[in-house]
Amino acid sequence: MRTYIFLATVLLGAVATAAQQGAPTPELYSKQTLEEMRRLQAATLASDYAYKQTGYLSNNIGPRLSGSPQAARAVEYVADEMRKQGFEVRLQKCMVPRWVRGEERASVVEFPGMAASSTQKLTVAALGGSVATPAEGLTAEIVIVSSFEELNSLGADKVRGKIVVFNYKFDTELQASGFGLAAYGNAVQYRFGGAMAAARLGAVAVLVRSAGGSQNRLVHTGLMGYTDGVTKIPAGAITYEDADLLAWLAKDGRVRVNLVLTPQKFPDVESHNVIADLKGSERPEEIVIVSGHLDSWDLGTGAIDDASGVAMSMSALVQLRRLGLKPKRTIRFIAWMDEESGGRGSGAYFEEEKKNVANHFAAIEADLGASHPIGINFAGKSEVAAFLAPITAVLSKQGATQLQQQGGVGADITPLTRAGVPSFAPWFDQRTYFKYHHTAADTFDKIVPRELAEGASLVAVLAYGLANLEQPLPR
Ligand SMILES: [Zn+2]
Repeated sequence: MRTYIFLATVLLGAVATAAQQGAPTPELYSKQTLEEMRRLQAATLASDYAYKQTGYLSNNIGPRLSGSPQAARAVEYVADEMRKQGFEVRLQKCMVPRWVRGEERASVVEFPGMAASSTQKLTVAALGGSVATPAEGLTAEIVIVSSFEELNSLGADKVRGKIVVFNYKFDTELQASGFGLAAYGNAVQYRFGGAMAAARLGAVAVLVRSAGGSQNRLVHTGLMGYTDGVTKIPAGAITYEDADLLAWLAKDGRVRVNLVLTPQKFPDVESHNVIADLKGSERPEEIVIVSGHLDSWDLGTGAIDDASGVAMSMSALVQLRRLGLKPKRTIRFIAWMDEESGGRGSGAYFEEEKKNVANHFAAIEADLGASHPIGINFAGKSEVAAFLAPITAVLSKQGATQLQQQGGVGADITPLTRAGVPSFAPWFDQRTYFKYHHTAADTFDKIVPRELAEGASLVAVLAYGLANLEQPLPR
């Protein structure tokens, strides 16, 4: 993480060398570009276009699980909308998994202090990709661990035939301090890797404490993984509250749980990324990507994850066209498919473009909600920070002044980032995102129109600035 102090030194460094060499400071953005960035910002902040598109995707189309009819309808809708807005649109084929959620319920059927023949209901959801239990469910004793180390220290004798409960607590204090993504990063390893680790020791199923910061008895679903040679066991997520309940009960004696998860997995189906270009006027072969992912999980309607990111990116091209602004480089809108279930859309794009990476000038992805953006995250050479200063100067009007360097800034653009393409994302306030992330509460009411417009403005101003940058970006 590097902020202004760094910025100042680099700028000073650049100015110093230029002065020593007596050469004028290389101009990064023309006066006209800076003026146009301010006009674009004003127009986008005043527009409800992104808000309306987010509403349509989340309310009129709804949850857009990869391979689902809703995801296919969303591809069609976004393609039509961008055509209506005057852009040339192409659909890029990718094969995506088709996993369908089934019945899901769980209850504690034996526990210390229980009233005779009573049970306690647990709120559970299958993790994405999970196999099913038998239709009538499976009942087994639970063993609770808070880490892989603790699990492995128990060994197969204590785990075989049991349901392993991974009780890693999402750090809500880290979230409250604005580091929701870091807290998520620490927790998500159990969601993805829990079933494999537990199956290696003979467990019959896993329940994972939600990798998210809500405390409203909401389950956070998400992708889990299997690996060849290890038994595939059912995997579900439970709420913050129910994980606490099981930990409390298990302190005093044996606890048994009945778990019913009946998801189905079908053969992969054909789907698409939606791609639309606003051709560059001077360097059309050079590309600046603006993007978000069109698929979502199915518990909520995927408003903050990630209808808002797709809508911000649509808005960037639409506002530029409405203002008659012509970027020097091509600005390419991409609505990625299958970010949540494996990144097949991102993979298909990289496969097609890997020989053309050098012409990818920059890549932007908005996939961390729609709260107030406080700045720009970037991945790539540290020197890139200096090129962003005039952009954050424009964005300071809306409070987005901070810069943060990270290893990666967006799952779908990561193949491009790894190939050296300077990558960017809005740095959103992360204090609420992970309270709703992948839950039934990821719904349109969580979108604050002003904040969404600020995100759309940041994406548009950043993209237009980079598309008109007078110098090549370090890479
Ligand atoms: Zn997402």
